[in-house]
Amino acid sequence: MRWALIGASRIASSYMIDAIRSQNADIQSVLSSDAARGEAYAREHGIADSFTDLDALLADDSVDAVYISTTNEKHHAQALAAIAAGKHVLCEKPLAMTLDEAGEMVRTAAGKGVVFATNHHLRNAGSHLAIRELIASGRIGKVLSARVFHAVNLPDALRGWRINDAAAGGGVIPDITVHDADTIRFHLGEDPQEVVAKAAASGLGEGVEDSVMSVWSMPSGAMVQSHESFTHKFAGTGIEFHGTDGSIFARNVMTQEPVGAVRLVDADGEHEISYDKHNLYHRALGLFADAVNGKGRPSADGVDGVKSLAVALAVREAAQSGKAVAVNYGGF
Ligand code: NDP
Repeated sequence: MRWALIGASRIASSYMIDAIRSQNADIQSVLSSDAARGEAYAREHGIADSFTDLDALLADDSVDAVYISTTNEKHHAQALAAIAAGKHVLCEKPLAMTLDEAGEMVRTAAGKGVVFATNHHLRNAGSHLAIRELIASGRIGKVLSARVFHAVNLPDALRGWRINDAAAGGGVIPDITVHDADTIRFHLGEDPQEVVAKAAASGLGEGVEDSVMSVWSMPSGAMVQSHESFTHKFAGTGIEFHGTDGSIFARNVMTQEPVGAVRLVDADGEHEISYDKHNLYHRALGLFADAVNGKGRPSADGVDGVKSLAVALAVREAAQSGKAVAVNYGGF
């Protein structure tokens, strides 16, 4: 497979270029809005071509797939152009700024017959696959509640548009709540119905929220408590599931690395759960390549991206209005 990168981003250089190449795929080109930066990026990463014009990049018939990792407001138009050119698309989260845009991306890809995936990496973690298996196999009985805490210290290098540019999709809700929504959906196999929330700027946010807490009701009756922040230096991340027959405590698992501990507590005592420590992004790219070859589906597809965005938008609306908000999935 041959790829093009749409966006000369940090996430591509730190994880995704390596992940694409881990599947014996080539990266042919990169798009940047700045010619000099794009050329330097291409040189640094051994990429043959750099473009500032998307149509020129997409005109290369040797490119099978694109990875979109520009700032969030650009994903929609870039994805539609790539789909129109017949490319398979792996798009960063949040898929778009609005539910309508995200839905259009996913429906257009389906109409064109190309694979469309969302880069929700956490589904690929061995820790989360183990947690999901514990829940699915009934080890904790009926799930009563879940708590996810994903309150981190946003590294200096990431403190640009994320904290000061609402028009580029900044704010902790589009940045992190989408991941938590996807992870909860992945584990529980159901979609949040209604949310209440409070958001704040607690030291970093300039015109956007940098912290949010929300509570979601699930169709099964389970309740979910979710906390995301950019300003917590020592809080650590984690996820918990509490059921009628047991509880799962996972620490340091809301991360890009294959790390963290998973513990099951039930009537027999405490059990450390072992899991496979593979690279999250390598697995995502492997499943994407399989889907392109007609085998299975990406770890998170376009509908997953629409739904995680829908939950995040409901959380933001609930925080702004102070009211309970029913999650609108736009017909998905
Ligand atoms: P960056 O800020 O690194 O990149 C976004 C855009 O900013 C790039 O496309 C680039 O524009 C421009 N840019 C990057 N570096 C510079 C620079 N030094 N000087 C000037 N402009 C620069 O964003 P991230 O990599 O953090 O995030 C990109 C996307 O990926 C977002 O949608 C984000 O939500 C998502 N993401 C997903 C993660 C995951 O694990 N799934 C993790 C991190 C981010 P141009 O391309 O025009 O050169």
